[in-house]
Amino acid sequence: MPYRAPVREFSFLLDKVVGFSRVQSADCFADATPDMVGAVLTEAAKLCDEVMAPLQRVGDLTPAVLENGVVRTSPGFADGYKAIADGGWVAITADPDHGGMGLPLAVATAVNDMMAGACLALQLNMLLTQGQIEALEHHADDALKALYLPKLISGEWTGTMNLTEPQAGSDVGALSSKAEDNGDGTYAVSGQKIYISWGDSDFAANVCHLVLARLPGAPAGTKGISLFMVPKFIPDADGAPGVANSLRVVSLEHKMGLHGSPTCVMSFERATGWMVGAPGGGMKAMFTMMNNARLGVGGQGVGSAEAAYQQALAYANERRQGPADYDAIIGHADVRRMLATMKAEVFTARAIELDCAVSIDMARATGDAAWTARAAFLTPIAKAFGTDIGCEVAQMGVQVHGGMGYIEETGAAQFYRDVRVTAIYEGTNGIQAMDMVGRKLMDGGDAAFALLDEIEAAAEAAKSALPDLAGAVWEAAESLRETTEWLIAQDMTARFATAVPYLRSFARVLGGHYHLRAAMAEPDGARGKLARFYIARLLPEHVALLAHVRAGDGGLMDITPDDLAA
Ligand SMILES: Cc1cc2nc3c(=O)[nH]c(=O)nc-3n(C[C@H](O)[C@H](O)[C@H](O)COP(=O)(O)OP(=O)(O)OC[C@H]3O[C@@H](n4cnc5c(N)ncnc54)[C@H](O)[C@@H]3O)c2cc1C
Repeated sequence: MPYRAPVREFSFLLDKVVGFSRVQSADCFADATPDMVGAVLTEAAKLCDEVMAPLQRVGDLTPAVLENGVVRTSPGFADGYKAIADGGWVAITADPDHGGMGLPLAVATAVNDMMAGACLALQLNMLLTQGQIEALEHHADDALKALYLPKLISGEWTGTMNLTEPQAGSDVGALSSKAEDNGDGTYAVSGQKIYISWGDSDFAANVCHLVLARLPGAPAGTKGISLFMVPKFIPDADGAPGVANSLRVVSLEHKMGLHGSPTCVMSFERATGWMVGAPGGGMKAMFTMMNNARLGVGGQGVGSAEAAYQQALAYANERRQGPADYDAIIGHADVRRMLATMKAEVFTARAIELDCAVSIDMARATGDAAWTARAAFLTPIAKAFGTDIGCEVAQMGVQVHGGMGYIEETGAAQFYRDVRVTAIYEGTNGIQAMDMVGRKLMDGGDAAFALLDEIEAAAEAAKSALPDLAGAVWEAAESLRETTEWLIAQDMTARFATAVPYLRSFARVLGGHYHLRAAMAEPDGARGKLARFYIARLLPEHVALLAHVRAGDGGLMDITPDDLAA
């Protein structure tokens, strides 16, 4: 069955679950009327279904290759990116002064999720370019903005992020690329970067690299890192791509999936660059890009899960196996369990990503620190849970297909191979969880407790209509509150040892909250039934997760490397 972008699902979530109308009421988003948002989602869905989805298999079967130093992209990807750019989708949230649409991030998040489900490898290029646009809008000087933003926004040029080096992965502060002042406003940037997504292509007139590097004498660690714009072609006086810069793609990585996205080893040899932001302010500037990208990568997980679910559902409706009174395998309780789990998990992860996006929009619209803190708290959950669910749902999709799931021609395995990296890049999910229990609880838990207050208040309000569902959600939130209080009293060793189960328990409880809201909106239909399924069968996982959290670091680090080898 071909992928169909789930527009109705987004409309329901935005209207009934995550309170998007608050964003629409803000002056700065006055153009995002319900009619306008509906039209945007419908138009994006058309592009996903008709243009992007057919490219998903092509990218897997005919990967990007490096030929004589130039990346040749998968057939059709050039036209696909052009269609994305022509539709204005690269610039959906960008400043209208530079040609963007200026729409809320919640709308962009919905569109990006649909596009990830349609063709993850191609969508990644757009996502990186969007992140670069945001970083330049916030940190570049006016001259750089005027030169680069219109081209990136129109889709003529594309953007990359260059952080990773062989010795500097999760520990970005260990990077050693250098930048020396040329004395004319430019810098000579040298170093090797690895794993650079879309480091080159044969369809972008220019590829704009945002590169992290150190100035001479800069302090060690993240404080000594600055950010540079290093284009593949140096723009001439008219702003057109001029002479080739001294950078090159050394090789492409051979990956388990995402073959349509060229993952490049890049070499910069005194390449000409322009500083973005202040000296030593590279991580701050890059964080703008990374925060956007973290939510976006979470959406990549959710979109991939949606596509894997759609395909598994179609297969389960067709495949006949078992007693004659079952029309198809969807009649078997265990297959039904897998499909219901997949659907319920996609709903939960999607609600988290949209709620996070709404919080970012509200922070921008109101300037209220509470919205900023809410968004910051939800971001690692959106990234880690969204991508974990991407992997888990795609894995279940393989299982629903039985042996055919393991055979490449069905495409079920591709979803799993492609989405797996989303739990690794943009900060591994373990690092996301550490961010949550570390920096995001530095406020003494204010943001966490404010969210739990919301969940409990909504459960209270739902108690008379749906007492059993509301009661379970309220109790889960209360247990999470008690464990959060306990966790805040622990040192960082204990917090880090249980960060992953803590993040997941929070996502579980949020899931109960969103499913309850869905059931309140439509108690009798499919949504009410799915909410019952989630709250009865998936929400109880929080009990075991919280027990895991309460174990702290007890015994974990006592297991030595020698014990592990024994
Ligand atoms: C397909 C692909 C595309 C990518 N695209 C880009 C890109 O466009 N630009 C870019 O700059 N990078 C990119 N990356 C790099 C990616 O962001 C890194 O791979 C990722 O940050 C992890 O770094 P690492 O691979 O060095 O793993 P490591 O940092 O070595 O991590 C290995 C394991 O150790 C854990 N770990 C590491 N440090 C800690 C710690 N302090 N505490 C607890 N656990 C820890 C990790 O969670 C992980 O499980 C890409 C990677 C891939 C595979």
